[in-house]
Amino acid sequence: MNSRIITIALLTIALPCAAAAQARASRSAPISDVRYSVTFKSPQAVEKGVDVTMSFTASGRDPVLLSLPVWTPGDYEVSNYARNVSKFAATSRGKALTWDKSAPQTWRIVTGDGGPVTISFHYRADTLDNAQSWARDDFLLFNGANLFLYAEGRGLDFPAVVSVETEESWRVVTGMTPAGARAWSAANYHELVDHPFFVGKFDLDSAQVAGVWMRFSSYPAGSVKPAQRVRLLDQMARAVPAEVKVFADRPWAHYDVMQIADPAFGGMSALEHENSNVGIIGSGYMDEDFVPSVYAHEIFHSWNVKRLRPVDMWPYRYEAMQPTAWLWVSEGITDYYADLALVRGGVTTAAGFLASTERKMEHVDQTVPVALTDASLQTWLHMTDDTQDIYYDKGSLAGLALDIMIRDASDNAESLDGVMRSLYAADYRNGRGFTPDEWWGAVSRAAKGTKFADFNEKYIDGRELFAWNQWLPKAGWRFHADTLHEQRLGVRFQADSAGLVVVTVEPGSTAATAGIRPGDVVTSIAGVPVSNPAWESWRQKYAKQEGAPVAIGVLRGGQATTVNPAVKFATIVERKIEPDPGASEKATRIRDGILKGETTAGKQ
Ligand SMILES: [Zn+2]
Repeated sequence: MNSRIITIALLTIALPCAAAAQARASRSAPISDVRYSVTFKSPQAVEKGVDVTMSFTASGRDPVLLSLPVWTPGDYEVSNYARNVSKFAATSRGKALTWDKSAPQTWRIVTGDGGPVTISFHYRADTLDNAQSWARDDFLLFNGANLFLYAEGRGLDFPAVVSVETEESWRVVTGMTPAGARAWSAANYHELVDHPFFVGKFDLDSAQVAGVWMRFSSYPAGSVKPAQRVRLLDQMARAVPAEVKVFADRPWAHYDVMQIADPAFGGMSALEHENSNVGIIGSGYMDEDFVPSVYAHEIFHSWNVKRLRPVDMWPYRYEAMQPTAWLWVSEGITDYYADLALVRGGVTTAAGFLASTERKMEHVDQTVPVALTDASLQTWLHMTDDTQDIYYDKGSLAGLALDIMIRDASDNAESLDGVMRSLYAADYRNGRGFTPDEWWGAVSRAAKGTKFADFNEKYIDGRELFAWNQWLPKAGWRFHADTLHEQRLGVRFQADSAGLVVVTVEPGSTAATAGIRPGDVVTSIAGVPVSNPAWESWRQKYAKQEGAPVAIGVLRGGQATTVNPAVKFATIVERKIEPDPGASEKATRIRDGILKGETTAGKQ
């Protein structure tokens, strides 16, 4: 997962209690020959929903227990998809079967003596979220974890076929393996729910990337200009080979980038899958620098998290949250490699890489100190103290620090790339997740036996400030910090359809003196609507106007108002990283090694 601008989600989540978990422990009668059919035509589109059937053969006299997941891997929140189900029915040989619920997400169907069973239901698809399902008059996004039931206690290794019934002229795109006309097959449930679908009218482009086809689907048709679509595929054609090189493996035969542009979405959010990703982007943001970075991040997840992942998440479980202290590796180090892929592939320059690194440092500076392990574990709770997403940027910086230390200890013969590649070979290839000992063992071996217990205690499992003045010179970079006096509103936002929802307000800030409080929606600043990507231009306008009034459009409880607080300035520490012209030969080798993806030990 990756989101830019939108940094904090405001969903209310429900946590499963122990009693509910126990109630789910019962086992279903065995089922086989599992098929799912998803119907989305004009009538369903009008209703903003989708009709689903599941057919199978049940064995024996016990009831069949069918469950829906509560979350989708990569989207670390409990969403309880079963809440969108209505009109549930079960039949066998044309006769209605008795059913009830045995748990909130579980249906119990009495079959009598087994045989062929068809269940059907309507699923409300009205949530624009890359882990959910969303219908428009001419389009549907759906995720398998929303719609596809599994038999309780019978394992997730069952194969299945999915067919999609839709209008003749509408397209269907998914990364799943085709199995006939508008039908696809999955070898097991994990594969089944890891392939989102686009159905309807949308643009479709393709290009050769890393030797195979990459498709770019964008909805609504015409929302992304042809030149922008060509540019994105070109950027991926340059960046993705640098990612393939890290693992010496390209694990898919084709890849789908699936994008929805929406005028009400203020930023970008994307969710990874084994050979696809779904991005949601605010209309007008397609030219922003973060777009290739988000997609490079999602594609790097093909290896890091979809295949190589911490043992806590192997295998995925769908009935409850599945926390891990290692999202700083799965997400943070993925983000480090997104930056590296862009510079190694020539999509950005070394200066662009450093600017991204500085931005991450600034985000960490502005956030209360939190251990990467704690931030990883607690993300499921949607923390309200501003630490919700910090494991992305701070984890990315931890990746840079480790890469520098490994290259320094080995005189650039080894790298973090090699660590990722060795764990991929040792763990993913052997069908398991990596343990903490395996991770630190691989890091230590690459760093020629250097111990990382102290580093872990201080910077990963602890809250100490990163020691950039010690680390960056080893890679030929100079680090300094400037103190600036700048105009600030003093709030953090989350975008939603109405505008920017205020999440936190800094005491004494411009926003605080105007009476702005969490839950207010900021709709415009200095006359520029926040739906306009140029809304941040108020900063330049007020660069020298401390104390001047600034008009802020606010929605509170549905009432629109304008407040005019005096702009307050705040003291900001600006981090700057520059290449050191006096760097030693070794440090220069390390810097070049990081930026080019090379070591002196040979080709990576
Ligand atoms: Zn991610």
